[in-house]
Amino acid sequence: MIYLDNNATTAVDPAVLDAMLPWLREQYGNASSPYLFSKPVRRAMDRAREQVAALIGAEPEEILFTSGGTEADNTALLSAARVFPDRRHLVIGATEHHAVLDCADWLGEAMGYEITRVPVDSAGRVDPAEVAAAIRPGETSIVAIMAANNETGVLAPVREIAELAAARGALFHTDAVQAAGKIPLGVRDTAIHTLALSAHKLHGPKGIGALRVSRGVVFRPMMHGGSQENGRRGGTENVAGIVGFGAAAELAQRALEAGGANTVRALRDHFETEALNRLPGSRVNGAAAERAPNTTSLTIPDVQAEGLIFLLDQRGICVSAGSACTTGSRAPSHV
Ligand code: PLP
Repeated sequence: MIYLDNNATTAVDPAVLDAMLPWLREQYGNASSPYLFSKPVRRAMDRAREQVAALIGAEPEEILFTSGGTEADNTALLSAARVFPDRRHLVIGATEHHAVLDCADWLGEAMGYEITRVPVDSAGRVDPAEVAAAIRPGETSIVAIMAANNETGVLAPVREIAELAAARGALFHTDAVQAAGKIPLGVRDTAIHTLALSAHKLHGPKGIGALRVSRGVVFRPMMHGGSQENGRRGGTENVAGIVGFGAAAELAQRALEAGGANTVRALRDHFETEALNRLPGSRVNGAAAERAPNTTSLTIPDVQAEGLIFLLDQRGICVSAGSACTTGSRAPSHV
């Protein structure tokens, strides 16, 4: 099999699995329990929080573990809605993941929010000035622009957009699920208020992610229950998942520091050159934009993605034509 769908999910790194197993076997204590048996559990979670924070240049106490990227995105948008109940306008990018798009749509349908979807240019780039112009000071609760697109890899200047949003009094959220571990992400001293991560996109396990909530930002939980995660998310923690996420984040950081992205970029560029040479009329989507080094998206004239995916699958090659959550839909991806 040739697996080329690492934006859908990645293989769990064997070192990550090894790090997780003790927390599923012997060390099954509840992190919130008072006795000594649970102490190592708390320590392991503290360490994972540090590892995840280090990957994005955040403080450990700013990291709130969630069930994945989807929950992190939803938590950010719904928190903003609760913090600013009188502001019923949101600004989002037109090519956001469904975790942002559908949550915004829900706010629109169920809560009467008005949503401005800022379009992208033909290379998939969002213009910070257009985002700024869409913000209505005093009315816009939050602006959400993804750091790297999951289909094209196109990057957005999220630090600059965050400054523009902050200057207009809106919160700023970025979905960095596809950016983390692929490009350096330093959130310290930026105006990025919330940032979503997911472990299974960087060789960690599925079902665990995080929301970085910048220190000082007013936050309202989405999950009500126990006082876990400093009262910001009720529910017994997924300890093995959290430990695995920490291990994966540390491996991703080391790989980034060792220049691993350059190797991946060289492979991606080689693939694109060969594909363009062999497929007349084809083009790379987002070629003119800055992109995450691991992602390629092609348009091949007169070829329907669905049929091509089927034929490639018969040859043991895994690719996709949109995010995994939309598979089965015949409509072309919104991206
Ligand atoms: N955001 C982006 C950009 C994604 O690619 C994904 C992946 O599916 C998600 C959010 C959702 O993350 P998760 O699968 O952890 O819920």
